[in-house]
Amino acid sequence: MSASVLESPPEARRATGSMRAVVVHSFDAAPRVEEVAKPIAGPGEILVKIEASGLCHTDIHAAHGDWPVKPKLPFIPGHEGVGIVEALGPGVIEVALGDRVAIPWLGYACGTCDYCVSGWETLCESQLNTGYSIDGGFAEYVKAHAGYVVKVPTGVDPFDAAPLTCAGVTTYKAVKVSGAKPADLVAVWGIGGLGHLALQYARVAGASVVAVDLFDEKLELARELGAEFTVNASERDPVAAIKELGGADAAVVLAVSPKAFEQAFGSLRRGGTMSLVALPAENKMELPIFETVLNGITVVGSIVGTRLDPREVFELHAGGKTRVIREERSLEDVHFAMEDVLRGDVPARIVLRP
Ligand SMILES: [Zn+2]
Ligand SMILES: [Zn+2]
Repeated sequence: MSASVLESPPEARRATGSMRAVVVHSFDAAPRVEEVAKPIAGPGEILVKIEASGLCHTDIHAAHGDWPVKPKLPFIPGHEGVGIVEALGPGVIEVALGDRVAIPWLGYACGTCDYCVSGWETLCESQLNTGYSIDGGFAEYVKAHAGYVVKVPTGVDPFDAAPLTCAGVTTYKAVKVSGAKPADLVAVWGIGGLGHLALQYARVAGASVVAVDLFDEKLELARELGAEFTVNASERDPVAAIKELGGADAAVVLAVSPKAFEQAFGSLRRGGTMSLVALPAENKMELPIFETVLNGITVVGSIVGTRLDPREVFELHAGGKTRVIREERSLEDVHFAMEDVLRGDVPARIVLRP
């Protein structure tokens, strides 16, 4: 299913159905845009003309082959693609031509295993992941399984919908599983592409938010988006600061550092829940058993969202309850965009324009 590079000249390829796409051929080389065959929708599949495609940190991990299970080369990254349905394969009933859809990380699940039938298709062992095990949205067109795309409501800007497709859904789910309620204090660790949305979902749940980051400008953004409290962890101990506020009922950890996870644990009040989202390369945190048991702490891992979560995320955005902070770049700019993300040199999220 990976991208195949055509060998004829670009002009000839245009006529026979080709497209521009970011293709990763090697985990050591910078990904670049090239001409590849335009995909054809098979049974149950659709062809989507991409309008906007968000850049997620996972795309960088995919392009660098950072994770134990690596994508099969060559492949097209991108799991925040949003566009218009241009062709339907045989048997498609879920969407119609002209619909605007988002193509999320969960590109396909079996639909029949215990996880799938209990509404936890994100745990399906037969799942396929967009921009990883199947070609993704860093292209002019993408082929997708019709049952796993999400309709984007009228009035939602595709450049907002793109980051909501992964960053929004992931943090929405993480706040959901944290059990955040009105009158709770939710600590959000790391205010970037994910964190700026996480804090808004905690506010939507009615909770107060304490934002933790190492940079003042990120904390300023958090305040602008509704965080009541902020802590610069490079200046003061966030555990002590949050304990002064009475301790956090829930902590959502989006910073890729084991230290952040340990601090988040320490900041919880009794009965608190810690929602693990970020994936630090070190892959380990120290979890004190005594405090976990005596304080009745819940530690929960949260991976993206099911098909229901993006519907709710889009509904909230259409209702004016969230704001997406993002910057537009051209698809050709993908390599520099990735470098800027790695340096932390972006306002929150980058969205690529094909
Ligand atoms: Zn993502
Ligand atoms: Zn399944």
